[in-house]
Order: sequence, then structure tokens, then C-alpha cells
Amino acid sequence: MTETDIEISQNTPLLPIKQIAERIGLSATDIDPYGHTKAKIHLPVTVDRPTKQKLVLVTSINPTPAGEGKSTVTVGLGDALTRQGKRTIIALREPSLGPVMGLKGGATGGGHAQVVPMEDINLHFTGDMHALTEAHDTLAALIDNHIQQGNELNLDPRQIVWKRVLDINDRELRNIVVGLGGRTSGEPRQDGFDITVASELMAVLCLSKDLPDLKHRVNQILIGYTYDRQPVYVRDLKVGGAITLLLKDALMPNLVQTLEHTPAIIHGGPFANIAHGCNSILATHTAMQLADYTVTEAGFGADLGGEKFMDITVPALGKTPDAVVVVATVRALKYNGGVAKGDLTQENVAALLKGAPNLERHVRGMQRYGVPVIVAINRFSSDTDSEISALLAYIQELGVTGYVTTVWADGGAGAIDLADAVVEATEESSQFVPLYNNQDSLTEKMTKIVTEIYGGQGVELSAKASRQLRTFAQNGWDNLPVCMAKTQYSLSDDPKLLGAPTGFTIHVREFAPRLGAGFIVALTGNVLTMPGLPKHPAALDMDIDETGKITGLF
Ligand code: ADP
Repeated sequence: MTETDIEISQNTPLLPIKQIAERIGLSATDIDPYGHTKAKIHLPVTVDRPTKQKLVLVTSINPTPAGEGKSTVTVGLGDALTRQGKRTIIALREPSLGPVMGLKGGATGGGHAQVVPMEDINLHFTGDMHALTEAHDTLAALIDNHIQQGNELNLDPRQIVWKRVLDINDRELRNIVVGLGGRTSGEPRQDGFDITVASELMAVLCLSKDLPDLKHRVNQILIGYTYDRQPVYVRDLKVGGAITLLLKDALMPNLVQTLEHTPAIIHGGPFANIAHGCNSILATHTAMQLADYTVTEAGFGADLGGEKFMDITVPALGKTPDAVVVVATVRALKYNGGVAKGDLTQENVAALLKGAPNLERHVRGMQRYGVPVIVAINRFSSDTDSEISALLAYIQELGVTGYVTTVWADGGAGAIDLADAVVEATEESSQFVPLYNNQDSLTEKMTKIVTEIYGGQGVELSAKASRQLRTFAQNGWDNLPVCMAKTQYSLSDDPKLLGAPTGFTIHVREFAPRLGAGFIVALTGNVLTMPGLPKHPAALDMDIDETGKITGLF
């Protein structure tokens, strides 16, 4: 029987975190160890060693609900680069407990390409999620207390946009009423919970350059409107300092290692729909300061995480990727070709080729930014040789190079060719071409995303969304980037429209201004900011014995 992810992790001895830190030039005083295998890195990093600063972005095609192995390939590619003698650091997002206990599993890679200790990283890690949850809910409590204590700011309780958060999928809390219980128990109003990774504070943390920038962004956050519809910000409530101090440790990136001891910085994990879906820019920046090659990942497909990396993260990071790896799997392409979830392990070359244009759309979308693009086929044991050769031939016809990786089964040894190709690609001279300018109107920005990245026709706004745009222009918010909140399963806003659809329109039902993060979220379809648990949540298979040994964590 093959070992599970947790068994592989438990059976692999880890190096002390101080030793991992030393490998990248960090001394004992540069880190705060959390036990022996995790540490927070003190900022700013003052190591004075020039690095190549090559940045590699890993993204993917539209996935099946199980994920297509972006994290797994990111980790495996990092290990392969290390094997090839390249000083490499991996930068990844922190997992949310929602997916861990729910459907998808963790976000620490899989098989022989994992970041470890996986049980810690997937569970409470160094407490960043808790700090974010507490900071978010402190602000919620301060808002309600302000109303209770006389409401000097004239906040309209019906127009508070700052909800509450919890880092677990709990659909019962999506819509709630707070303030019941009479005069001393607050002002009754409708409220709701989002999952912590959908909190604007998560996006703020991930886009902040340093502590002063974090405080500045926290102060910019919109919390609601007055009775006469004027925006009210955190700075008006005068609690920006308090919220920022709750996040002072969470702002420090976390250092861990892969199974093969490549250093990994895991920090921040914003949703890739309601937010931009990439680890913190501090994590990526720190990695680039310390390593020649930084491999990072963007959430969901290239249409969501990939696009947002280019249009939201890159300007904040001040660095464009030197190469992009698009992860494709035979099973996801068959899924895009119309095969039912239960039949994906059956050979079906025709369906694979029917779904393959989905890959082309993502490759072209990333090439549009002027950066070199490589395809990584993440091989599953059910993939047949005929399917793999048909896919390689298809990729060759697209004029890009494709490599089969077996990192899940073989660790870094399964991505040596890919690593060599990535190194070569990062040496190519490339000219980054942004998709839009901040001066473009929000409608123009969305239209460019839909036509040039999704392959659709344009956007259609609900009456509410159109009204909001007029107010945003009056408030001067229309020069911000757009963050599309869309299904991850389709290039369109309809999760059932698979493959590479054309002629579709994206329907924007509402906008959510995220002024601290510095973007406007365009909500399409039925994107949920508080997911529910599935019929068979992953939690049902987990256990811990009397010795503390964990089982069932994938
Ligand atoms: P993503 O980052 O795209 O969401 P992950 O890397 O988290 O995907 O992988 C999703 C799941 O698929 C994980 O449980 C992982 O162990 C598993 N997985 C990834 N690649 C393979 C593979 N080649 N063979 C078998 N399982 C895999």
C-alpha cells in the first residue's frame, strides 16, 4: 500500500530549523524559532548577499474540485532546483482550516513533494490565522461598541460592511442577527461570518511592505456608511493602531522546509476569488533576498490567481516573474472535455484532446504578459502512456515546451528536466506587458480581463453594480485594480461551462471595495465567502492516538 501524505511526512527526518536558516544566510538572531522545525523571520532581513532574484510563478489550468497539484509541483520544482545546485526558496500560502477539514485537503503539497511539518502547517502553524481572526473580530466588536456608545460617527447599522470571521467552513453563520437581548446587548442588525482567509485583513497583510504600510492599509479599510451614505474608515474609528499591533507577529514570514530540506517560506493565504490568492509579498520578497531562485504559487487557475498575480501582486512586489509554469493534468483536461468526476481514471484520449483547449487558453493568457511560459504535466498513476504522448504532442503544437513531472511519486528527482528548462527560461530577456493601467475605468479593466484572459465577450453589470460604479467614481476609488471573484472551475462565471468557451459574458452582481488591500472586488456568479462543509468532510477520516500520532490528515 502506498504511504499517505502524513505517513511520508512522519517518516522523513527534518533538519533543525536553525540549520535551514543557516543555509540561506540567516543567523540565530534573525529568526524566532517556534519549536525546532518552524520559525518566524525577523524583518527587515539585513543579509547582504547579492542574489539572482529569479522569480518563478506556478499556476494552472481550470482544476477539478480536488486540485491539480500546483502546490505539489511548486514544492517538487523547488527541490529539483536544489538538486541542480541552485540556491532556491519556495514561497507558498498558509492553509486554511476550512479546506483542511472540508473537501480539498491541505495546501502543503503531496506525496514526496511536501512542505513539512505538514500537520503543523495544516493545523495551527504559527498562529497567523488566529491572529487575523482575532484582529478582524476585534474590529467588528469595536464597530458595534461604537454604535452602542452613542454612535458619534453616525454609522448606519444597516450599512456596516465589516462582517465577522472564523477559519472554518460554517454555513450556519453565513447570515445571522447580532445584538439581540435588549438595550444592554447592542443594536440588533443583520450580520454574517466569512472565512478568515476571505477577510480583507488577510489581503492587507499579504500586500503590506512593512509595519508602517500595514498600519496605513488597516486605516484605509472601509467599515460602512453613515445614514447619509458617506464612507466610514478604520481611521475614523481611531483603532488602526490596535488592529495593527494584533498583527505584528503575523506579519513576520514563517520558515519551514520541504521533505528534501529546501527552505520554504509559508506566509499568508488569501482566497483566490474574493482576494488575490498569493502568499505575502514579504514572503516572496524575503525569499528573493536570500535565494537565487524563488518559486511561488498563485491560487486556483491562471485565469484567477495567475491574472491577479500579474495585475495586483506584481505592482505591490515591484518584481515581475521571470518564468511561468502552467500545471496541467490529464484528469483535469478530461474533466474539461466533459468526463464525469467518477470516470477520470479511465483512459480517454478523445476527451483529453477535447478539454485541451482549456490549457491553450491559460498558456496564451500568461504569454500575453510577455513572460516565458512552460507547461508541467503533473503525472497521476492513472494516466496512460497514450494520454501523455497525446498531451505532449498537443503542447508542442502550441509552440511551448511541456515536461512530464512525477514529483508526487519521486520528489525533486521527478522534475529535473522541468527545473533545467525553468532556469533556462529565466535567462531569456522578456518585457512585461501589463494588462491594464490604473487610469482605465473599472469597466475597461474588467473588459480587458474577460476578453484577453478568459476569452469571453465582455461584462454585464447588475443595476446595483452600475449604481456602485457611479459612487466609486465620486469617491475616487475607480483607479484601483479589479479583483475578480469568479468560479475556479470555468473560464466563465458558470462552473458548468468547461473547456475553452467563447462568446460568454461575465455578470457582475455587486462590487466590494477593499480599500486597505487596494482593490475593488467584482462579485460574479454565486461566489461564497463562507463555504459549507461537504457530505463527507475530511474531518471524518482524521484521528489522533494516545501517543499523539495523527492519522487521516490526507
Ligand atoms: P493545488 O495546489 O493545485 O490545489 P495540490 O498540490 O494541493 O493541488 O494537490 C491536490 C491533491 O492532489 C493533494 O492531495 C495531492 O497530494 C494530490 N496530488 C497532487 N499531485 C498528485 C499526483 N501526481 N498523483 C497523485 N496525487 C497527487
